[in-house]
Amino acid sequence: MQTLHTVAELRQWSRACRRATQPPIGLVPTMGALHAGHASLIRVARARCRHVAISIFVNPTQFGPNEDYACYPRSFEADCALAGREGADVIFAPAVEELYPAEPSSEIATFVEVAGLSDRLDGASRPGHFRGVATVVAKLFIASEADLAFFGQKDAAQVSILRRMVTDLRLATEIVVCPIVRDSDGLALSSRNAYLTPAERIQALTLSHAVRHVEELVAQGERRSSVLIDAAREVFAAEPAVCIDYIELVDWATLEAVETAAPGTLFAVAAYVGATRLIDNTIVR
Ligand code: AMP
Repeated sequence: MQTLHTVAELRQWSRACRRATQPPIGLVPTMGALHAGHASLIRVARARCRHVAISIFVNPTQFGPNEDYACYPRSFEADCALAGREGADVIFAPAVEELYPAEPSSEIATFVEVAGLSDRLDGASRPGHFRGVATVVAKLFIASEADLAFFGQKDAAQVSILRRMVTDLRLATEIVVCPIVRDSDGLALSSRNAYLTPAERIQALTLSHAVRHVEELVAQGERRSSVLIDAAREVFAAEPAVCIDYIELVDWATLEAVETAAPGTLFAVAAYVGATRLIDNTIVR
């Protein structure tokens, strides 16, 4: 008989017992309107796990009152086809009442809130957004009992918040981060790209151009945050139709601003192209 003292030891023991009979389960949480970015997550999950579930749920609690919850793109039939092609075993597509039982969204009592981090980057301009994300992802982790969950670096601040949630709640699901998938011209794939007019689609390239410019400067040895952020601002200045929400260089774990870029630093931008809010980022390696 063994004596265990830490949650990590207990979990390791419990996992070893389960895995002896049950191979790992992977979960890919999404809001649907699937594209090649989502497909890449399913493929990584497929390679790492024997069983793969993808959730499709447009989560009302992560949208602000004036945001696009009602018109968020929904394409369930096409999503099922893509998920099937990529090898998902299960699509979990709950109704709102299934994840938020018997409560109008204005009266939900139980939330998961990662204080501090949730007010930074996207959380600063989308109050309550990360509380909604953490809450629904916690529900999905608990419901699926997944061993691994796959997220895109595309939503880098979301990753920081979910990692912190997993650590603080000692959740058993391990987070795996997958690279950003881009269109051939560099635009990061996003379900919201469907909102863009042809002219806006071209303007939207400003985000990836700024990210690439910063990557080039870092590769040349520039590390000063102020210089890198100013350089990104100059890229945006060339496209006045695009309105910056934020341009930040932060520690990827804490989302706190840094003065000097170092390995693990997150350079992140968010901007409005017309009415569409897009994000992009890069991690200093
Ligand atoms: P969403 O459906 O937008 O909530 O995204 C579901 C998951 O797909 C999140 O983990 C996103 O970070 C990830 N994702 C979205 N776009 C991309 C992309 N272009 N490349 C890689 N992952 C992505």
